[in-house]
Amino acid sequence: MSERFEVVFLGTGSPLPSADRCGAGNVIVAGDTNVLVDCGWGAARRLIPSGVRPPSIDVAIFTHMHTDHMTDVPDFLFQRWVGGATVPLRVYGPEGTQEMIDGFLLALRRDIGFRLAHHGDKLSPDGIKVEVTELPTTKAPEQFLDLGGLRFEAFEVDHFPVVPAFGYRVRFDGRSAVLSGDTSFCETLAHASEGADMLVCEAMSAPLMEQLISMLKLTGRNREAGLMGDVPSYHIDTGAIAKLARDAGVGEVVLSHIIPPIPNDAAQEAVFIAGMNDVYPGPVRIARDMQRIPVTKRGS
Ligand SMILES: [Zn+2]
Ligand SMILES: [Zn+2]
Repeated sequence: MSERFEVVFLGTGSPLPSADRCGAGNVIVAGDTNVLVDCGWGAARRLIPSGVRPPSIDVAIFTHMHTDHMTDVPDFLFQRWVGGATVPLRVYGPEGTQEMIDGFLLALRRDIGFRLAHHGDKLSPDGIKVEVTELPTTKAPEQFLDLGGLRFEAFEVDHFPVVPAFGYRVRFDGRSAVLSGDTSFCETLAHASEGADMLVCEAMSAPLMEQLISMLKLTGRNREAGLMGDVPSYHIDTGAIAKLARDAGVGEVVLSHIIPPIPNDAAQEAVFIAGMNDVYPGPVRIARDMQRIPVTKRGS
């Protein structure tokens, strides 16, 4: 009987507004351990409806310092603290993570003081503390954390000019999942994905992106159209994901960080992934917010 190893999708969107898809956030569930990976807008509010109690998370990991991966950190810290956390949160991420955490804690400083004054020792002063470790950059996956057999490895991806930006490979109970982070196609992601049971990959649909840009131009929103025109340079499109997944022999592909955002609608999801299975023979699906997907052994 294999142990529970799942990816919980808190937010499957990007910075672009969407009613169905919050900013990026996942929980890796392995046995009794929960690890948060990224915490973008709305991700913290997805925890409880996803069946994850915030104080059950003592480790959080960040891929890079873009808003859509971190702006719900204050709400997560607060929910974890008042939910009963009594130990500091351990945080790992690229250079810049300490500054991000320091900034959010500074913004919360008065709130923390008010709540401690109001609730006294019902709140643990340690439960709102954060201990940060910034990880060195590395091309090949390098292990930085082992939580009772749940192992995390970091590798650098290409999200230029966001440097450094990381993807992560997670191993547990003989299975592995790769989280791409935000990236264009890069050899480091291809290498890290070799033989992975699951690739959780950010994804852009080039045709849908072109449609969005045309619509913005037609309605006179030229500044937004210009900004959107910069997006493809640092994201990977569905065609490149299919080739990467085929060449790396991954067991299944789960798309998240969907650009442009599409609603929870099977027909639109089918349009988004159209053509991928012409290249990659394995299962491909688009994750939805609050979905829980088990990591299963390749070919099983
Ligand atoms: Zn992003
Ligand atoms: Zn990004």
